[in-house]
Amino acid sequence: MKTLAERSRAAVWHPCTQMKRHEARPPLAIASAHGPWLVGTDGRRYVDGISSWWVNLFGHGHPRLAAALKDQLDRLDHVMLAGLTHAPVVELSERLAALTGLGHAFYASDGASATEIALKMSAHCWRNQGRPQKNGFIGLAGGYHGETVGALSVTDVPLFRDAYAPLLRRSAVVPSPDARGAAPGETAADVAHRAARALAAHLEQHHAHTAALILEPRVQCAAGFAVHDAAYLREVRALCDRFEVHLIADEIAVGFGRTGHLFAHQSAGIRPDFICLSKGLTGGLLPLSAVLTTDAVYAAFWDDDSALGFLHSHSYTGNPLACRAALAVLDEFASRDVLADNARLAARVSAALAPLLADERLAQPRHLGMLWAADARTDDPGFAQRFHHAALEQGLLLRPIGATLYWMPPYALDDEAIERLGAGSRAAFDAAWRGRPTAATPAVVVP
Ligand SMILES: *Cc1c(COP(=O)(O)O)cnc(C)c1O
Repeated sequence: MKTLAERSRAAVWHPCTQMKRHEARPPLAIASAHGPWLVGTDGRRYVDGISSWWVNLFGHGHPRLAAALKDQLDRLDHVMLAGLTHAPVVELSERLAALTGLGHAFYASDGASATEIALKMSAHCWRNQGRPQKNGFIGLAGGYHGETVGALSVTDVPLFRDAYAPLLRRSAVVPSPDARGAAPGETAADVAHRAARALAAHLEQHHAHTAALILEPRVQCAAGFAVHDAAYLREVRALCDRFEVHLIADEIAVGFGRTGHLFAHQSAGIRPDFICLSKGLTGGLLPLSAVLTTDAVYAAFWDDDSALGFLHSHSYTGNPLACRAALAVLDEFASRDVLADNARLAARVSAALAPLLADERLAQPRHLGMLWAADARTDDPGFAQRFHHAALEQGLLLRPIGATLYWMPPYALDDEAIERLGAGSRAAFDAAWRGRPTAATPAVVVP
């Protein structure tokens, strides 16, 4: 009989994967998940060290989220949102408005679609205001905003982009404020200021044809957890105001507490013109994304003429189940001081990771909120794969980005999970560095 993993390899085209890689190693089959733990079909347990691709917030199978979803399922599964409305989408929009100051929410089902919506809304807004030539976009070097064709046009990751280059209308790329770019004697704030000056020079020349600048506030995650100083966001806000360019904050990865603030841009005390949310929005339960915007942008579409409206839709826009999951996430934030609890949890994770992060073979260790990263001093292209496999053998799900190791665990870690994040990561690093896989640790079987 074929295993689940073998059947998957034959019938499922896995994301972000050269499928031939699975010839040697089939995908890992997961049977269940609880809290920070994933349980394989063979009974082995793994710490979900990357929150299942950055979506899970409070651990798997969270009782509050599960209960909300079950309750919603008995009331209203789904209705279309054009011409109809329902309590979960109204309440969610009101509560997101209260948390961000951006009072109009448009929904889709994934992050890339949120990027598309923000870009389209921005350019359409300028068009409605009689300035159709303002339709270009600016992104940061290394920026990641999703992989549909429009989102890819503002994504600066060659590996994802180059094969589709002829399909794309490329956007302008300005230097990243990545603090790792500091010259000797320079602070992170100096790097931020230098990057802002480059943006100013670009805007001087191109503002008349620029609709919006899109960026990931505080941490460019896909670029290898490039952290920048909050001063950059303040300078960018001022420049966008001066040159009449919308500022789109892509909070898809960094939102909902990952950086230690509810939303990362709030660390700079600024208000963007658009905020894109997804991933943690439903706590990792269901696909949902939202684009929040201002009264000013909303007003530019308000007219008797249909063509001036934002005629964009997805079939599942505002799905009640997904909105209800998002409301349960907000309830969890309201029920306790999640950010303060995370700060205490983060101190324990930092202590567990400290021996590895102090290792000479790692450069630029960094920590913000519930994110940790460091760069292995290697240019071996096989390192990331080796580390990933070695970590699995330690009972840890981790996927380095090139030479960058990172940890983005859920906000629910028991003692065993913290211990394993520390000791397991260290053992996996040693094994990956040596270039040989570790001997498999004894299988830990759940009762
Ligand atoms: C993951 C991500 C996206 C894309 O979201 P998908 O749901 O994968 O389409 C966009 N922006 C950022 C910053 C992301 O991390």
